[in-house]
Order: sequence, then structure tokens, then C-alpha cells
Amino acid sequence: MIIVAIDGPSGVGKSSTSRAVARRLAIPHIDTGAMYRAVALRVIEAGIDPSDEIGVVDLASRTTVDFETRNGENEVVADGENVAGKIRTPEVSLVASTVSAHPGVRRRLVALQQEIGRRSGGVLEGRDIGTKVFPDTPHKFFLTASPEVRAGRRWRELKQKGVDASLEEVLSDQERRDRQDSTRVDSPLTVNETYRVIDTSEMTVEEVVDVIVESVGDAG
Ligand code: C5P
Repeated sequence: MIIVAIDGPSGVGKSSTSRAVARRLAIPHIDTGAMYRAVALRVIEAGIDPSDEIGVVDLASRTTVDFETRNGENEVVADGENVAGKIRTPEVSLVASTVSAHPGVRRRLVALQQEIGRRSGGVLEGRDIGTKVFPDTPHKFFLTASPEVRAGRRWRELKQKGVDASLEEVLSDQERRDRQDSTRVDSPLTVNETYRVIDTSEMTVEEVVDVIVESVGDAG
């Protein structure tokens, strides 16, 4: 069973890269950020303050998050409802970053991620896959790119989806999320020597995918 960990900050190209790597290796693509986003969506819908740790953890513990394949893509499902179409807004992004700092939320989702990964292997993308979720996998990649490159990519992605936001807004939201994600006490975004670090600033998605697939193949 193959577990490929792809970690890195937001907007670095994890999703398109992970999706393509999963297709090449013929294993599932598991977007763990989508799981935090699904919980964030439920928090917003329930009108709970994202920083109310007890309320958020209670809601998360009652929410089942899984994936279903639709049109060849693995889409996130919360309590049986496919919520993939609702979780890519700037509001959900920020709330996801806030709720993901609560240890109770992380415990719940990490357990689900390990269960899903053990079922069939997979390419897991996130922030803590190689440090917390599957620390023993030999296949760990950390993607980086400059903040400007990342914000530009995210902005184009949002525009394509019809979400109206200025580049400045995207950059400042990204800075805020980067800060929250790397300074939280539980499982901050970190990289260590067990990762292969890939700076994607000047690379196409296809080039990054090639590097990862070859490296997984070489490791056997
Ligand atoms: O990757 P994505 O931007 O969709 O993730 C949304 C948020 O979920 C991130 O800002 C981060 O706070 C959180 N997250 C996390 N751990 C993961 C994946 C995502 O804390 N493994």
C-alpha cells in the first residue's frame, strides 16, 4: 500500500499536483484540507463562533467526513451530503484555518484520515501528513513557492470559479492563514529532513508531478 504525503502552504499547487499524482499512481486522492473546510462549513451553518473551541469540537465530533467519487474526482462528503461545491469560498478558507487550530478537531480528522488512507492507500495532501498523519511513509514531499506566486495562482483559480476577489485581498487572506497555520500550537505547518522539498515557483504542475512520481517509483 502506497501513502504519498504532499504538504505545504496554501496556494502552492498541492491540489492539482496531488490529483495528477494520484491518477498516475492509480490510488485515491485525499484532500485533507477539504475535510477541515467541510467542518468549517458546518460551523458557519450552525452559527457557531469559530474560536469557541468547545462548541466547534462538539460539532466536529458529531460530523462524519468522508469522500465519494464523482466524475472521476474524489469529493468531500459531510454527514452524507456532498459539500464540494460549497467549501471553496474565502469565508470557508479563513474559518477552516481557525477551526483547524483546535486540537479536538485535529484529533477527530486525523483519525478519519488514517482510516481512509489505510483502506486503500492514497495521495494525501495537507499540512501535517508527513509529520502527524502518516509520519512513517517514505514518500514525503513539501511544496513551496513565493507568497506572490501562490496568491496569483489562488486568485486565478477563484476567478475561474466566478468568485470575485482582488489580488490584494487574496494575498492578505493568505498571509493571515499562513501565519495562523504555522504558529498554532498543535501540528503547525513544518518541514523536516524526512521531506523532499520542491520549490514550484518556476515549475509547471506536470514537472512537479513527474518529480514526485519518479521519486516514488525510485523508492520502490
Ligand atoms: O489546503 P486547504 O487550503 O484547503 O486547507 C484549508 C485549511 O485547513 C488550511 O488553512 C489549514 O488551516 C487547514 N488544514 C490543516 N491540516 C491539513 C489540511 C488543512 O490544518 N492537513
